[in-house]
Amino acid sequence: FLSFVYTLAGAQTKVPYKNASLPVEARVKDLLQRMTVEEKAGQLNQIVGDLLTGPSSGNAGWQSKIKLIKEGKVGSMLNVVGATNTRAVQEIALKESRLGIPVIFGYDVIHGYKTIFPIPLAEACSWDIPQMEINAAIAAKETAAAGVHWTFAPMCDISNDPRWGRVMEGIGEDPWYGGLVSAARVKGLQGNLDPDHILACLKHYVGYGNVEAGKEYNRTDMSRVELWNKYLPPFKAAIEAGAATVMNGFNTFEGTPVSASKYLVTDVLKKKWGFKGFLVSDWNSFGEMINWGYASDQKDVAYKAFSAGSMMDMETQAMVEYIPLLIKEGKIKMAELDEAVGRILYYKFKLGLFDGQHRFTDPKRESASLFTEENRQQALKAAKRSVVLLKNNQQTLPLNVNSKKIALIGFYARSKNDLFDFWVAQGDSSQAVSLYEGMMRRFGENKISYSDGYRADASTNEHLINEAVANAASADVVVLNIGLSGKLAGEDRSLAYPEIPEGQIALLKALKKTGKQIITVVSAGRPLVLTPIQDLSDAILYTWILGTENGNAVAQILAGDENPSGKTVLSFPYAVGQIPVYYNHFNTGRPSTTDGQGNWYSRYRDIPNKPLYPFGYGLSYTHFSYGNLSLSSNVKQRGKALQVKVTLSNDGAYDGEEVVQLYIQDVVANIVRPVKELKAFQKVLLKKGEQKTLVFTLGDQELSYYNAEGNPVLEPGRFKVFVGGNSQEVLEQSFELK
Ligand code: BGC
Repeated sequence: FLSFVYTLAGAQTKVPYKNASLPVEARVKDLLQRMTVEEKAGQLNQIVGDLLTGPSSGNAGWQSKIKLIKEGKVGSMLNVVGATNTRAVQEIALKESRLGIPVIFGYDVIHGYKTIFPIPLAEACSWDIPQMEINAAIAAKETAAAGVHWTFAPMCDISNDPRWGRVMEGIGEDPWYGGLVSAARVKGLQGNLDPDHILACLKHYVGYGNVEAGKEYNRTDMSRVELWNKYLPPFKAAIEAGAATVMNGFNTFEGTPVSASKYLVTDVLKKKWGFKGFLVSDWNSFGEMINWGYASDQKDVAYKAFSAGSMMDMETQAMVEYIPLLIKEGKIKMAELDEAVGRILYYKFKLGLFDGQHRFTDPKRESASLFTEENRQQALKAAKRSVVLLKNNQQTLPLNVNSKKIALIGFYARSKNDLFDFWVAQGDSSQAVSLYEGMMRRFGENKISYSDGYRADASTNEHLINEAVANAASADVVVLNIGLSGKLAGEDRSLAYPEIPEGQIALLKALKKTGKQIITVVSAGRPLVLTPIQDLSDAILYTWILGTENGNAVAQILAGDENPSGKTVLSFPYAVGQIPVYYNHFNTGRPSTTDGQGNWYSRYRDIPNKPLYPFGYGLSYTHFSYGNLSLSSNVKQRGKALQVKVTLSNDGAYDGEEVVQLYIQDVVANIVRPVKELKAFQKVLLKKGEQKTLVFTLGDQELSYYNAEGNPVLEPGRFKVFVGGNSQEVLEQSFELK
């Protein structure tokens, strides 16, 4: 009766939760007391929509979904996009469910919604943190204009295993740097949560980057010391940046599927870090507890996930089905359920989903916001800064733009279908710029002569090779585009051999015989083993998967309009059997000498210990020299900062940017520490001939590590400091921490 009166009386007598002028906390509290236990469980339920159709389409699947929404049994939907479809679903939730609780729409916007940016791994190679925030903000704006409130990004998983197809979504192998990148992405996506921004979701909490043998959906195992020092830091940094949501991973930790790990979810995330947002499972990761042999049935699943502290259930529907029963049986307390549901409702209020038109979009705003010229320009800039120059023998690059003829060889250079990876949201590869198009535009159509060289599956034959060789023989220079199709980058794209395909190597060998200079452009969503092509190429430009503006970006770099400044954030293995190979590895009991003196040390007999290209590596068209590494003192007192100075000179022929990296080593500690750990960097622009003294500051925080309890430890003793342009070629000093 009361609510009937309220409805009639209009705005002034609105029920408190519908009153936008009340504080969010009060609205949450009011709404919770009006909800049935079934409705509360409904908020923990996330179901999938259909990207292409909306509820009015008459598609069979929608009928049952609409029914659930009307019953208040859907808290969130994923994969409902577009102004029209999101509005249609939301109107059902607002007008036809008992309490009018809106649905929150989530979607995987991993590197752009319609304007596709470089894959996150490539973007991380730019070392341009402010730009990453801008890129994320553009993705958020497009996504919000399409009616979506929440993206399942950024991925904060540290990984050093390029067999794992998901390294493309990530941040590379360094936990500290990964934290900076993740935090910037969160800030860009969320902003102040106005209607141009969306919620971020940190995934996959936690340890998923360590899947055994790089195999998707596999188990993980690690010590707590490893967890704290390597896998948790990026999540911690992103939580501190205000991330609203977190996704449980598919993996296990200490024998427990992570969705059911009370230690990870409750003790660490909620209690130790004070995370106030909400969690969502990964796709059926609750249900997968049964497959792991960890839960007996759906009810057991709901109990184990909920009592660990997990909340929203993507696709399993165990929560919506069994939470009411678990409450009835007294296995779960109502206060605990209210706490979990309250977190979800909080963000629904915060986003303005209850408050009328605020979060609605329309097709006009949508089309005006997507794939704009401005967004494409930013994607181009991002793409150019993500490219890593790995080899440039005798200044092969930049190309002489006056060359009469450039042979462009490689099927992927023209195949737009292979340009995009697994995660491109609503990006349309037919609108993306291929390398072929980019080069035609930049160098002139009459200068480019193209041949396939290999087929879509990267195999080749005599005919294709002969054609390519003839093309090369009549050209001044060869640009060869090889690597792996974008389709092999992403979820469920694990590879036992992350290598350059054999057919492409055969092609390169044949081209080499022409005696022409060969510039190899490698496209791939992960570092590939480049050892077989290293000597066959005069220059190697690693272009990852660059998104919408791929061809323009690469052509402009080849032409020297842009001087490459990216540095890899994932080591390039020398051979597959060397994986995992990473810069922040540990000493062994045997000296790591490679002096050839017959010493016994930890090594493979058939390959070197070093990666082909280490973390932090990347060349420029100019040359940088490092000198005068000095410390403000050779003793550092606790609580006081230490200054580190180094002189950087641009002694090459071009203006250029350098990523100056500072690493430390805690020489003797209570737990064995890595041989190097990145602790600071500066990306600086130096004109040709210019010299600059750079100053870094080291504080206690940079010198601490985490113990197994997750507490920072600062131990007195000797520390080494290294500065250089990559993790291997460095200057060294040391000091004593007192
Ligand atoms: C992936 C997540 C993704 C989710 C929703 C899962 O399979 O692991 O990263 O967000 O699907 O699409």
